[in-house]
Amino acid sequence: MLKPSLNEIQKLAKDKHNENKKYFDKLKKKTPKNLDYVMQDLHDAEFKKTNCLECANCCKTTGPLFTSADIERIAKHFRQKPQQFIEQYLRIDEDQDYVLQQVPCTFLDAENYCMIYDVRPKACREFPHTDRQKFQQIANLTIKNVAICPAAYNIVEEMKKKMPL
Ligand code: SF4
Ligand code: SF4
Repeated sequence: MLKPSLNEIQKLAKDKHNENKKYFDKLKKKTPKNLDYVMQDLHDAEFKKTNCLECANCCKTTGPLFTSADIERIAKHFRQKPQQFIEQYLRIDEDQDYVLQQVPCTFLDAENYCMIYDVRPKACREFPHTDRQKFQQIANLTIKNVAICPAAYNIVEEMKKKMPL
């Protein structure tokens, strides 16, 4: 499947929103036994042909949440105290999580490389979470992510074909 361009992804995801919502509601009630295996395959196949450096839409339009382990690790990398790092880069959002003060992410460089790649937040390492076990539990997050991430969009489209419900 061709990857949707960043210009069209929001519209495509909006068009699929109701269909995806229905699908994930059914998935929660009728979870296939092999869901984890199928998702791992779909995720691997899509990311084999995905070059995130040509995209970086996740880093540009949404940020990760930062756990305390993330904050300690990244602050150490900058030789800062966690509190200094928090004051310089983070804010608390409506869910009481630490998130970036601004997007695009401050740590994204002009070539779409992450300047803190080795110590980046866990949420960045795991985005878009399409290989997560018990995938049915992150339905709402996934429905949001297909509007940001062309790879996640394709994975969900393939998933509906492979596992019609
Ligand atoms: S939005 Fe998806 S495809 Fe784009 S850089 Fe992020 S993970 Fe990769
Ligand atoms: S920390 Fe790195 S991977 Fe995470 S959003 Fe920022 S640039 Fe992207």
